Amino acid sequence: RVDYVKLDDASNTGDLKSEAKRALQRHACERIVVTEPGEWRLLKDLEGWAEELGVPVEIRTDDRFFCSREDFANWAEGRKSLRMEYFYRRLRRREGILIEDGEPVGGRWNFDKDNRKALPDDLDAPKPKGVKPDRITREVLELVEARFSDHFGSLEGFDLCVTGDQAEKAFEDFVQRRLPDFGDYQDAMRAGEPTLFHGVISFYLNAGLLDPRAVCARAETAWRDGTASINAVEGFIRQILGWREFVRGLYWLKMPDYKEMNALNAKRALPAFYWTGETDMACIADVVAQTKKLAYAHHIQRLMVTGNFALLAGVAPAEVNEWYMIVYADAYEWVELPNVQGMAIFADGGIMATKPYAASGKYIDRMSDYCKGCRYDVRKRTGEGACPFNLLYWNFLAEHRKSFENNPRMAMILRTLERMDDKEIKSIRKEAKALLEEICADGEQP
Ligand code: FAD
Ligand code: SF4
Repeated sequence: RVDYVKLDDASNTGDLKSEAKRALQRHACERIVVTEPGEWRLLKDLEGWAEELGVPVEIRTDDRFFCSREDFANWAEGRKSLRMEYFYRRLRRREGILIEDGEPVGGRWNFDKDNRKALPDDLDAPKPKGVKPDRITREVLELVEARFSDHFGSLEGFDLCVTGDQAEKAFEDFVQRRLPDFGDYQDAMRAGEPTLFHGVISFYLNAGLLDPRAVCARAETAWRDGTASINAVEGFIRQILGWREFVRGLYWLKMPDYKEMNALNAKRALPAFYWTGETDMACIADVVAQTKKLAYAHHIQRLMVTGNFALLAGVAPAEVNEWYMIVYADAYEWVELPNVQGMAIFADGGIMATKPYAASGKYIDRMSDYCKGCRYDVRKRTGEGACPFNLLYWNFLAEHRKSFENNPRMAMILRTLERMDDKEIKSIRKEAKALLEEICADGEQP
């Protein structure tokens, strides 16, 4: 039986613990049984409930994940560095996913290098099929409009799934129409095409409408049936069995200190265009506009456009994390925080990634068509009209040269920096300083 407290119930206290207390008064409960939450702060709170509420509280493991918190901690124990690839191989073997006779099918664990193709101009990506809001959804949309209309985001055209059945149908549509090309174009971006060949399922997985085990099993079947290639299916399963489980394990292992880390001492305010989308940088304008409309951006947009810019601009981690938590429908702290702190802005100093995912405009130009429609010139590093990603990239390397000099994966790019003449580095530093002062000065959340 469900006793459902609506957001706008007059007696709703707006606080989970107080609501549990009220529920205890309404029902003759002897104990509380609860699934572990996705946030460290809330877990700590729940751990104090038994004493505060005067009933036993049982916090159960969230069995919708392949790997429990304890299991991850055991794997991590004694390791000098934590690398997703080794964790993923262990889980693949243990779960028997894409494994035959104890070995990876297709003869390799990882097909990543086949997954970085640029998108051909004439290739269209099938769009996810949306769902027409039912009565309950329409009521909730009205409630949100009435209570939160000044918040970031738009309700117009809301068509996300709200039931398990709908989410399963949406996933099946992905398997049939987009999964076959998922691998090849996983890193590609195209203006005005927010979803390309991605699953668009993170909100459903994180909210419990889709089961990760069933999702991985269905993807494996697509390979066994011959409807999708191994690089597509392995690439997709790696995101869920590998990255998703790995970031969660890392989160629980490293919290609460992880949230406070700021290895690069980044202090600037988040530029206002993260909220408004008003910038001449075509790549950022496109990603922010689609984020506002859909509460969705795919991985490379989050990592190499908005994340990369925040890294290069030295935006304070708390501001970057706040933005990612607010703007995406799939944001829960266990998954948002490691992706931002560890992957996008290197605030954890290399716990998650072996080097910062810093890139100049050249990368964005290679993987997208954004630069074609941009006021800035992606071939220019400095001077009027130079692409800000270029300017800030070289400024970032010059500023953090010392921090990275012992990192072998940064050696090649630092050598290029060494070879640059001092005059050019000076003008990069000067122009970058002026640009950053201008764009970070008005960085208040509207
Ligand atoms: P697909 O590309 O189709 O991938 C399939 C599934 O794999 C995803 O649905 C997701 O569940 C999982 N997955 C892929 N990459 C990751 C990853 N790095 N970490 C965890 N799961 C992954 N994901 C969230 O679920 N919530 C977040 O708040 C979130 N914040 C992010 C912030 C930044 C800065 C970055 C770089 C990544 C973030 N991600 C987050 C990870 C990833 O970008 C999204 O899971 C993905 O874009 C969701 O789109 P999709 O369902 O189309 O994914
Ligand atoms: Fe983005 Fe620079 Fe390309 Fe413009 S030129 S779209 S700012 S990478």
